[in-house]
Amino acid sequence: MNNLFFSELLIATRNTGKVQEIAAHLAGLPLRLRSLREFANIAEVNETGRTFAENAQIKARSYADQTGLPTLADDSGLEVDALNGAPGIFSARYAGEAASDAERIVRLLAELARTNDRDRRAAFVCALAIADPQTTSLQIWTGRCEGRIAHTARGTNGFGYDPIFIPDGYALTFGELETDVKQRISHRAQALDAAHAFLRQQLNNDS
Ligand code: IMP
Repeated sequence: MNNLFFSELLIATRNTGKVQEIAAHLAGLPLRLRSLREFANIAEVNETGRTFAENAQIKARSYADQTGLPTLADDSGLEVDALNGAPGIFSARYAGEAASDAERIVRLLAELARTNDRDRRAAFVCALAIADPQTTSLQIWTGRCEGRIAHTARGTNGFGYDPIFIPDGYALTFGELETDVKQRISHRAQALDAAHAFLRQQLNNDS
């Protein structure tokens, strides 16, 4: 990574839930976190990848090239076993482009009920990529949090599908669990642990 730019990192997501989790996890690092909102004319990136990792890399590279900043991008979603891994990389658009989190949850519970499958196993998956605008260098990490789908939405913490996801080892959904539990065990927390270690090492090398 280029020393000159590396005191700043662009968090390339407009999802406020993701931004909060990422910012909280990286808070101890001597980095100025920048937001996509600061860049009025930035072009939206088409997520044309076939995997979370491909989409995270596409977003990190495009926003790094557009802004000239080292960029961290997140691509994540929910894989439900009885739905053959759906909604997967289409998690954000599962009930249409303009749908709300609540509408996505309603669709997911309906699809799961339609299968008549008693298997409610699921996993949250997160891929994080950091792209360097000065080179073609790209780092990628993934995290996976296993659990099951609740029968109804419960709790208001977190975002997205959190109210219907019960992580293994717990009886409550991510919507009900204290925020610090998700910050410790989630798919995003796992990928962020690795990203944090990488960033700390880069910053040490730079100083
Ligand atoms: P992306 O912006 O294409 O990565 O879309 C990710 C979508 O997956 C989000 O809009 C959420 O619906 C869902 N998602 C990803 N991570 C989480 C999470 O930590 N909790 C709940 N839902 C999530």
